[in-house]
Amino acid sequence: MHELALVQELCALATAAAERHGATHIERLQLRLGDRCGVDADALRLAFAVVQQQQAWQHTHLELELVPTRCRCHRCGHHFRPVDVIHCCPRCGGLSHELLEGRELELVALEVA
Ligand SMILES: [Zn+2]
Repeated sequence: MHELALVQELCALATAAAERHGATHIERLQLRLGDRCGVDADALRLAFAVVQQQQAWQHTHLELELVPTRCRCHRCGHHFRPVDVIHCCPRCGGLSHELLEGRELELVALEVA
């Protein structure tokens, strides 16, 4: 399950950041998750539930901010949300290969105590 490895990595990053601030406990983890980043939100929550079996993470709240895919059309510059894996511009019919948003998976906030 590659989500578990990912969550463990994020937790390690978060722990290192918390330690730098002299914190002993992480209350909240906030992640941005693009819908094309290859990671499923439910799978991520499940993986986090596994990590939460460790005492250090029992009381940490995981918050996922889901980011919808957004493209920019090369032909007309229109920004749109693709409905398919083929990013076809609804205004001019041009194909876009440029994803503005939707691929991110990042740790955006950390609340420590
Ligand atoms: Zn267009």
